[in-house]
Amino acid sequence: MNGSMLRSHGPTPAAVGMHREGTHREGNGHALHAPVLVLNASYEPINVCAARRAIVLVLKGVAMTEEENGHFLHAARLAIRVPSVIRLLEYRRIPHQTRALSRKNILLRDRNTCQYCAEVLPSSELTLDHVVPRSRGGASTWENLVACCHSCNRQKGNQFPDVRMTSGASTSFTSFEFPVSSF
Ligand SMILES: [Zn+2]
Repeated sequence: MNGSMLRSHGPTPAAVGMHREGTHREGNGHALHAPVLVLNASYEPINVCAARRAIVLVLKGVAMTEEENGHFLHAARLAIRVPSVIRLLEYRRIPHQTRALSRKNILLRDRNTCQYCAEVLPSSELTLDHVVPRSRGGASTWENLVACCHSCNRQKGNQFPDVRMTSGASTSFTSFEFPVSSF
């Protein structure tokens, strides 16, 4: 199974404040849950994870930031720029790309972990979330579908931080589209 690093739960900056440049604290919840595009070492998009996990991957030296979303994360004396795109430093083979795109396989890929709050739940308590909502043109693809708990799903609704809309990274999604007949 791929992605053990992507799905690892390292120390997360849960107790830190976060604010956008020039404004004061707006609470850490929203920004830490912002979707971050994960690229393979070869620059192929392979996954989407929450910002807090992306930061952990960068801090662990597993990935590097390719783009930032303009937020800072403040922890002790440290100010960390929040990424919108990260890239793994080591190439990772992605076996799931040949599998049928299905709810079951996406939950499997995400190890039954909500990709926004990192909670591990039984399949019955997880749903699939379109990171870019369908109403905004988000496709039903491996890259745009993630496991999501009902609570995060409700919270997110149709919101979508505009990071990916402006990053240009979304264009690379088209090369990864899968038929959704298996739904
Ligand atoms: Zn959740």
